[in-house]
Amino acid sequence: MLTSNERVTEKVWVVALIESLGADRWLIIDGWCTVGAGLENSPRENVACLNFTIFSPVRAFGPGNGGGGGGDPGLFDTQTDAIARKELQDKLKNFSKSNCNKVFADVIEGYSTSGFVGEAKTTEFYAARNQPYASLTQNQVVGNGNKASLNNSLQFGQTARTIQGSLGAAVLLGPNFFSDTVPGQQNTLVHELLHVYTNGWSDPEIFDAFKDYGLKHINPGSGDITGWISTDCTKTPTGAN
Ligand SMILES: [Zn+2]
Repeated sequence: MLTSNERVTEKVWVVALIESLGADRWLIIDGWCTVGAGLENSPRENVACLNFTIFSPVRAFGPGNGGGGGGDPGLFDTQTDAIARKELQDKLKNFSKSNCNKVFADVIEGYSTSGFVGEAKTTEFYAARNQPYASLTQNQVVGNGNKASLNNSLQFGQTARTIQGSLGAAVLLGPNFFSDTVPGQQNTLVHELLHVYTNGWSDPEIFDAFKDYGLKHINPGSGDITGWISTDCTKTPTGAN
């Protein structure tokens, strides 16, 4: 749900706002519109509104909802969402009893187990090298104003990366993720969920925050964070991981 209580007098401004949602069709929940109807699934060209609330069915419920245009690949990689969410659900089943949970609670201000576990359900996951998702922009999937494609947002050989914006968080996954074992994938997903839950702590910030809890930066990159998670946040494996 995106709300604006500002007076909107220019149609172009409304269109720009809709663009930031990345949805082709959207609902005017309330408010007053000069062109087009209020409670209507409207094409974006037809409406200029004052004091409105808009809601994107595509963003909220996935492709095929409220789109109606046909041929729209949709903004959600539902297949990757299903894989990642199932793996996280399995991995985090008894998370409240884990040492990672205890450590997260010690270090992250305002931490709650349910809040952390709950991020898995609202975070979007993308196979960033696979079309049609590879061509979506960061702005389309998270609303951060960045026009880089998902494909170009993941470096060569990079396993995973989290991006965030006004629409929420998305985890971009590369081929190295998909060729990994299920336990390896689960540890990567928990690593990314840590970025999501902390609202974008960087890898250096994570290394620093958990340095008294067995996390060491031994190998290049951020795989040591994933390795540390694999030991239930007790120590950092010394081998490449
Ligand atoms: Zn990371």
